[in-house]
Amino acid sequence: MAQRNFILLGPPGAGKGTQAAALVKRFGVAHISTGDMLREAVEKGTELGRQGQEYMNAGKLVPDDLVINIVRQRVQESDCEAGFLLDGFPRTLAQAEALSAMVDELGLAQPRVVNIVVDDEEILRRLSGRRMCRECNAIYHVAQHNLDVGDTCPACGGKIYQRPDDQKEAIAERLRVYHQQTDPLVPYYTDRGQLVAVPGEGPIDEVRDAMLDRLAAGPDEGA
Ligand code: ADP
Ligand code: ADP
Ligand code: ZN
Repeated sequence: MAQRNFILLGPPGAGKGTQAAALVKRFGVAHISTGDMLREAVEKGTELGRQGQEYMNAGKLVPDDLVINIVRQRVQESDCEAGFLLDGFPRTLAQAEALSAMVDELGLAQPRVVNIVVDDEEILRRLSGRRMCRECNAIYHVAQHNLDVGDTCPACGGKIYQRPDDQKEAIAERLRVYHQQTDPLVPYYTDRGQLVAVPGEGPIDEVRDAMLDRLAAGPDEGA
């Protein structure tokens, strides 16, 4: 069967991780979150974690070559046979270009890009209330799920925590970095006919349905 690949694009807190589940279910693709992989490396105290940690806590991007390497290895694992879903990668033009070249080199399909559009005010609300499970990486929000730091995850019983970069200063820095480094990927992928834009501000189910409809309809018109 043909391989199908996807990228979830959108600012921190847009709902990429939340919506990833629907694409995994529909298309049987492997979910690849560079943020989850980096946080795991930090927790395990690996060399990668050691190199990434300071950038992450400050809300900065880790260096391109580090993330490009982890993605290059990850997309060649056996669970990516049906395809992969990149969540949080690429985030710079250099990463996008490296990805495009590696996909060609490995004989894989160029990904379709879902751009989840949410304005900065809503992002602040979402990120400041976000809580995660340390074990299974499930994503929650204090206003939607009745839980907070120290509680147990309803999905797996793991401990709920708040990411250090979901504190106020790091959030502001991440948004600034996003607009500076990642915004240019929208025209890049639009011009290449790979992008669909999806409004990300409604309820989770509505965003999901809009995303699946837009993917069925084909790419947005180039500029
Ligand atoms: P990203 O992966 O893009 O950083 P997440 O999926 O982690 O974003 O979502 C960020 C926060 O917003 C989480 O607390 C999540 O529960 C919440 N969230 C996600 N989608 C929606 C939505 N459509 N409406 C309201 N809150 C949402
Ligand atoms: P969010 O979607 O909430 O912004 P992620 O979990 O995707 O957060 O990423 C968390 C942090 O991990 C980023 O702020 C950055 O420091 C690092 N990171 C993740 N993916 C990348 C990437 N593609 N390039 C550089 N840094 C990354
Ligand atoms: Zn859990």
